[in-house]
Amino acid sequence: MPLSAEIAILGHATRRMKTFTSCIRASSSAALVVDNMDQGSAFLNMNEKTQLSRNTQGRPRLAALRKTLKNDTIVVSTSSAQKSGLVINQHQATDNTKGCGSSSYSSTQMTPEDNLATIIRIIEDLKKEKQREESSYQNKFNSSPAMLTDKFGRYHTYLRISLTERCNLRCQYCMPPEGVPLQPKQSLLDSNEVLQLVNLFASKGVNKIRLTGGEPLLRHDIVPLIRQISSCHPDMQSVGITTNGLTLSRKLQDLIDAGLTHVNISLDTLQENKFLEITRRKGLSMVMEAIEKAANMLPSGRVKVNCVVMKGFNDNELKDFVRLAKHLPVDIRFIEWMPFNDNGWNANRFFSYADMLKCIQDEQNLERAIDSPNDTTKWYTIDGYQGRVGFITSMSDHFCGTCNRLRITADGQLKVCLFGSDEVSLRDAIRAGIPDSDLELLVEASIKRKKYALGGHGDMHGIKEANSNRPMTLIGG
Ligand code: SF4
Repeated sequence: MPLSAEIAILGHATRRMKTFTSCIRASSSAALVVDNMDQGSAFLNMNEKTQLSRNTQGRPRLAALRKTLKNDTIVVSTSSAQKSGLVINQHQATDNTKGCGSSSYSSTQMTPEDNLATIIRIIEDLKKEKQREESSYQNKFNSSPAMLTDKFGRYHTYLRISLTERCNLRCQYCMPPEGVPLQPKQSLLDSNEVLQLVNLFASKGVNKIRLTGGEPLLRHDIVPLIRQISSCHPDMQSVGITTNGLTLSRKLQDLIDAGLTHVNISLDTLQENKFLEITRRKGLSMVMEAIEKAANMLPSGRVKVNCVVMKGFNDNELKDFVRLAKHLPVDIRFIEWMPFNDNGWNANRFFSYADMLKCIQDEQNLERAIDSPNDTTKWYTIDGYQGRVGFITSMSDHFCGTCNRLRITADGQLKVCLFGSDEVSLRDAIRAGIPDSDLELLVEASIKRKKYALGGHGDMHGIKEANSNRPMTLIGG
């Protein structure tokens, strides 16, 4: 049985617990919990909702954890009452534990020495299994580092990091009118944590970073962050932002000086009244000014306007958007409307790639261009136009087969797929003080569990029905 779930052991109170400051593996659906009662606890539940949480108060919440855990979960705990040894409690373990080699690790009421021996045996078995998997990966995918390569051989070199959950607009397709509950600032990654993660991913091959939000320009440290990200690794090729453009004009020069290479500006209408309707705020003129300024300040091909198309709302504006590319060196991208929690997605208002093509072609002669290998966009050119026209067809014709994208949310959750509900808290792992080598294993395990397409939901109707994702604004797009 292949092993695919990764376990972090986060104890570091005693010398014995140091034995566990490493990542080990359990069976495909089992989770292992290590609870260090004196120094905090952490658990990683590798079932459908993966999460990593931590008790920093020094007292365990084992009872609460047990309630949370599913039948296929193993709990390993240490007790302050038994500091002299380790107590392992196997909690409703099922056959899944047999994923750890052929052994069974039932150990309730064992002596401390037996417990320690058992745990060491688990770790050794799991390390061997990991080595076997790694060498088979190397054989299969040659040079791609295991940490960033999923089980379909997709090598992930593009990391999107959300810097904030806040936004100065309230776009209909993104969140409900009242907004979404935001987390306190201390729950979000600070700039040191962002940089630690960027360095980790860059050291394994990520060479393209995009900063998103919320609205990333609301983050006060955006300029120094971009400066540090752009210089963190010699192979870093691209540092972009996705912004609503409201405040871009006045910050653009500083951002470019700091190392910003690409700008995507989200804009769904060119009409003032509709802008107000869809964003629930004013500001179209400021966005238009930002598009023009960015197009003049950055090389051609590095400024994109992203337009989410909805039937009956802005499908009659496609040609107007395309005309922007005639006079400015900006690429216009039309994005199929995607279902996210609470964004009111409705199949009747879905406007497909085919619909868009039909709508534009009768006036503007689109010619199919060549897309780059991991492109999400189907590109077209028009004779005499400075910019290109592209279509992001996630719903009608997904491009998951060449996906190289990972996401980190503002609160530090790694999301390996835009539509997957699995998350692993890199924030909690960092704050628990686990070393980068263990962070790498957490990341690798998550990537190995990535589904082939659309988070495993099949199609847009499956995504809508699952309703198991975050609102777009809390993912970062
Ligand atoms: S849906 Fe998931 S797998 Fe497909 S392209 Fe988007 S992130 Fe990648």
